[in-house]
Amino acid sequence: IMESSKPHVAIISSPGMGHVIPCLELAKCLVSYHDVEVSFFVPSTEASVQQTQLLESLVVPEDLHIIKLPPVDISNIVPINNEIVARLTLIVQESLPDVRSEILKSPRPPTVLISDMFSTHAFEIADDFKMAKYLFCTFSATVLAYMMYTPKLAQETNIDSQEIPESLNVPGCKPVLVQDLGGRDRLFHLNGGKVQSVFGHIYNYAKASAILVNTFEDLEPQTLQGLSDDNVRWTIPMPPLYPVGPIIKSAESPSIGKSDYYLAWLDNQPSGSVLFISFGSGGTLSADQTNELALGLELSKQRFLWVVRPPQDFTPAAYISAVGGVNDPSEYLPDGFLTRTSGIGLVIPNWVSQIDVLNHGSIGAFLSHCGWNSILESLVNGVPLLTWPLYAEQHWNAMMLTQDFGVAVQLAKASEEGVVGRERIERAVRLVMEEEEGKVLRNRAKELKSSAIKTMGKDGSSYGSLSKLVKKWNEISCPCKP
Ligand code: UDP
Repeated sequence: IMESSKPHVAIISSPGMGHVIPCLELAKCLVSYHDVEVSFFVPSTEASVQQTQLLESLVVPEDLHIIKLPPVDISNIVPINNEIVARLTLIVQESLPDVRSEILKSPRPPTVLISDMFSTHAFEIADDFKMAKYLFCTFSATVLAYMMYTPKLAQETNIDSQEIPESLNVPGCKPVLVQDLGGRDRLFHLNGGKVQSVFGHIYNYAKASAILVNTFEDLEPQTLQGLSDDNVRWTIPMPPLYPVGPIIKSAESPSIGKSDYYLAWLDNQPSGSVLFISFGSGGTLSADQTNELALGLELSKQRFLWVVRPPQDFTPAAYISAVGGVNDPSEYLPDGFLTRTSGIGLVIPNWVSQIDVLNHGSIGAFLSHCGWNSILESLVNGVPLLTWPLYAEQHWNAMMLTQDFGVAVQLAKASEEGVVGRERIERAVRLVMEEEEGKVLRNRAKELKSSAIKTMGKDGSSYGSLSKLVKKWNEISCPCKP
C-alpha cells in the first residue's frame, strides 16, 4: 500500500464556541476542498455543553481526525477572576502534553501546525517536532493589525496609567477614535492587567510563517492592502496575510438544535419580517437591560426571535459557565410580556442553531453582540445588523459594521454606561425593519453576500489563498520526530 502523500495539518483550537466553530470549519474546508489530512485538537472545559453537542453531531469526513483532549482542571491554578483569555490560555497549556503524546503516537505525524488566537503556546510543540507554524486569525484583519500594533503602543504610552492617545494610527488602517471603540477603559484588552495574557499570544503571532485571516478582500480592502505594504514598519514582524474567509458553518451541515420548533415557527412568518436577537455564545445582559430590551421590542411591534439568557451583571458570564442550565424566561422577562407578544415574538432559552436561523428567509435583521463569526454569518446570508457590542473586540467590529461595511445601525453605543432605553431600541428596530434606511442596509448586505460567495468559489481569492498555502505545505517533506 502506498503511503498517503497529502499534507497532514494539526489544528489546535482554544476552547469556546467562537473559536471551535471557525477552526472546525477551516479543518473541514481543507479536507473537503483542498485534499489535506487534518488532525483537529480540541481542549474541553466546564462550559462545553454546546461544544460536546457540536462534536457529537458531526459527520466526520475520512481525512479529518477529531481528537478530544481529556478535560483539564485549572481551578487550582487560577483564582476565579473571570479573565477569559487567561483561562483559555491555561486550559490550552494544560492540554499540551496530551497533544504532544497524540502526535508521538501518530504513524504519519503532521508537518504543519495551525493555532488560533489563544492557543499559540502550541507553537512550542511545532518547534519540537519541526512543524511549520501558522496562525488562524478568527478576528478581522483590522483587529489583528491593532493587536500587532499594541506592543508599540505599550512602548510609547503608559498603558497602566491609561495614557492612550485620542486616536489610534494603526499601520495600514485608517485612524480610529478611541472614543468610537468605547473609550480608553474599554479599549480591547488594554485595561489593567488583562493586557499581559494577550501579549504572550501577540508575540507568538509574529513567529508564524503566515496568518490565515477569516476575512475576504472585498470586506476589508484597504486594510488588507495596507497590511501587506512592505513599507509599513511594525515593532514586531508581521507575517504574510492570507485572507481565506468567510469560513463559517454551512446551514445544511448537521448542527445543534436542528429541526427545532423555532425553525418551524419561522416557516410561518412572512419573508424578511423577523428580527433575530442573540448575544453570541457568551453574552448576557443585566436584569434592567433585559427588561428594557423586552419593552423596546414590544413597543416596536415587529416580529422577533430572541435567544434569552438569565440576567447577569457580568456580561460574558455564559462564556465561562455552562449554558443550558435551568432557564425559565417567565421568571425574569417583564410581567405579561410573553403573553402580550405571543404570536409576534418567540423567545428561546440559551441557544439556537444560529446559522440555520440567519439562513431562513423570514429573517429581516440581526440584533447582534458583533462577534466576528456572527458578523460573517449574517453577511453571508445578506442580513443587515443592529449593533450591540458587549466585550472583547466587539466594539471594534461594531464600528466597522456601521462606518466601513455600511450594513448596520448602531444601537448600543460603545462609550455609554448604563442601560439602553426602550425608546431608542424601538426606534432602531423600526428603522431597520420598516424604513428606507433598512432597505439601503439590506442591499449593501446583499452585495457583500455575493462577494462572499464568489470569493469562496473555485476562482475566488479566498479559495486561491488556501490553495497557495496548501501548495507550500505539499512541499514540506518528511514527517519529523523530535
Ligand atoms: N452560536 C449559535 N447559537 C447561539 C449562539 C451562538 O449557533 O445561540 C454560534 C454562532 O453562530 C457563532 C458562534 O456561536 O458561530 C459565536 O461566535 P461569535 O464570534 O459570533 O461570538 P462569541 O460567542 O465568540 O462572542
